Amino acid sequence: MISPVLVAFDGTPQQNGWVIVLQDISHIKEAERARLQFIQTAAHDLRNPLGVTLSALTMLQRSWKEPTATDREVFSIAMRGVNRMQDLIDDLLHLEKLESGVDFALIPFDIGELLQNAVQDFGPTLEQRNQQFLLQIAPLLPMVTGDARWLSRALANLLSNAHKYTPDGGLITLYAYADDESLTVAVQDNGAGIPPDAQARLFERFYRARHTENQVKGTGLGLAIVKSVMEKHHGRIEVQSAPGEGSLFKMILPLQPLDV
Ligand code: ADP
Repeated sequence: MISPVLVAFDGTPQQNGWVIVLQDISHIKEAERARLQFIQTAAHDLRNPLGVTLSALTMLQRSWKEPTATDREVFSIAMRGVNRMQDLIDDLLHLEKLESGVDFALIPFDIGELLQNAVQDFGPTLEQRNQQFLLQIAPLLPMVTGDARWLSRALANLLSNAHKYTPDGGLITLYAYADDESLTVAVQDNGAGIPPDAQARLFERFYRARHTENQVKGTGLGLAIVKSVMEKHHGRIEVQSAPGEGSLFKMILPLQPLDV
């Protein structure tokens, strides 16, 4: 922080010097590095026993001759638990990796190709629940400078949420359009919608809105990842939603060259 020193000898304030305050933040940086290291180690160490449990459960299922209804029920509870833990570890690792910046590079790429891939990946998933997938993609989109893998993961999180929080037979629309300054990729659904008080907290880590948390599985990290991806691109994420009417999530990316 730099402030001028003003002294008034004869009633007229005059600048008489500067005060410069310097703060050593190396201990904060060190604590942040230690936190990252801890999460990465813990997540990696949890992955192994989880993989072993998953293989053991799969073998158990294969060796069953005549499982009872209770056997099946217990088995599916165990599977759900293991899968949920795996999702949580994957999301935590994604978030930490992104925030540490180790796996992030800004390179010009064709956003049209990224959108096509997302459509191909999600089409069958949406079909399974008879959800209609509408595409509103402008024909000529500019090249984008960004990290295509992270942007495609962010878009996948939005599409996956639209799928999860919209009932069977619902409508999901993917938009992409640009003006001189920015490119917008948006996902709209006509599903559950989000109450206004929850909207302010959606992008916090582990936050799950109360109206959805018991019915749909999730980690509460998907939108935190989207927000972090947008920040890394100097862009932003916006949400418009009303309970019972659906939600619209917009990822807005600046088009001017980025300096990172
Ligand atoms: P997750 O879906 O794993 O719980 P997210 O961070 O992706 O975590 O989303 C946080 C919360 O925001 C969700 O638990 C849900 O309550 C709400 N949410 C996100 N997307 C939608 C959507 N399209 N419609 C309704 N609620 C949503």
